[in-house]
Amino acid sequence: MKTEAEKTDNIKTNKKAELLSLSLTELEELMLSVGEPRYRAKQLFSQLHRGLSPAEMTNIGKLTRQKLGEISYYHLPEVERKLVSAIDGTVKYLFRLCDGNCVESVVMKYEHGNTVCISSQVGCRMGCRFCASTIGGKVRDLTPGEILGQVIAAQKDCGERISNIVMMGIGEPLDNYDNVLKFLRLVGSPDGLNIGYRHISLSSCGVVDNIYRLARENLPITLSISLHASDDETRSQIMPINNRWNISELLSACREYFAATNRKISFEYTLIDGKNSSVASAERLAALLNSNLRSKTQTMPIHVNLIPVNEVEESGLKPPDKKSVAKFVAALEAKGIRATVRRKLGSDINASCGQLRRAAGNSGEATDVKNCE
Ligand code: SAH
Repeated sequence: MKTEAEKTDNIKTNKKAELLSLSLTELEELMLSVGEPRYRAKQLFSQLHRGLSPAEMTNIGKLTRQKLGEISYYHLPEVERKLVSAIDGTVKYLFRLCDGNCVESVVMKYEHGNTVCISSQVGCRMGCRFCASTIGGKVRDLTPGEILGQVIAAQKDCGERISNIVMMGIGEPLDNYDNVLKFLRLVGSPDGLNIGYRHISLSSCGVVDNIYRLARENLPITLSISLHASDDETRSQIMPINNRWNISELLSACREYFAATNRKISFEYTLIDGKNSSVASAERLAALLNSNLRSKTQTMPIHVNLIPVNEVEESGLKPPDKKSVAKFVAALEAKGIRATVRRKLGSDINASCGQLRRAAGNSGEATDVKNCE
């Protein structure tokens, strides 16, 4: 069995540049190195981001294509499995990466456009008790091009423009900070997919130091915080990250994020029967958010997304019944906190994250491992 370090070494020692991970400036350097003028990089960048490989580009000379092939490679995630919900048209992909590892992406169709939910790592090391993605630990980080590749491949496969992105798939985006940041700049680029930052949400379990960094990046993306508890004792039991940064430290970082970006913050709260779903928990949650994020001088726009826990066999955790969920919502709203229960899209295809990859037996060591070119 390969160790994690050996596996990432495969990627690191890869001498060829991954075209989808390159910024326009880096692509310009690459074009210059194969004897092409700098200005041609823009066209290449735009075609790559629309899902064309250099081999398919008729506007590049054969010799240039050959030279590019010697120093770089282009690989889009390949559709390993695809499930389409008969109920609402949600499409779930299991994508195979160039080294054989798999990640999941989901395309959800809303009236305001198509949204793709993408992964940021193969596996996850955050250890949240209810989450299927973390069961085999983290295998490796995704490159910027592999994160972007999911959007391109999903768009190509479904044949419709994707206008919104949520980083809520497998992995903790703020545990792969540099690659995620590079991805955000690539996907927002006017010469690429040009998806506006206001149409992008990033969900984090609370890697506080990187929330402060993100606040300084001048990217107006929406931050979603996976809170899931209203007191430190409960949160530490279900989310190990809380032992590193507690709720008060997390909410201070949220205040700073809002002060820097003026963007609404949403809080994810997974309802688990007998753990965090009582009316008393709801009242404590409302008090927590009101006292930490709202004052007479500053009212931060916040929203709570309630998600009845999806049952993951290994966790043994169950969702509360509908009546308890309704009582929880009412208790929050009585204290001025807006809350919605997440509409369950793709319930017939098990569209919540991590479950397809595990079902495919790809929870740790990649099967059919081959090196990226
Ligand atoms: N690591 C990031 C993003 C990935 S998970 C984060 O923690 O936010 C996306 C959301 O789904 C998170 O709010 C996560 O806590 C939640 N989630 C994970 N497993 C779940 C399950 N079994 N049931 C309900 N929500 C779950």
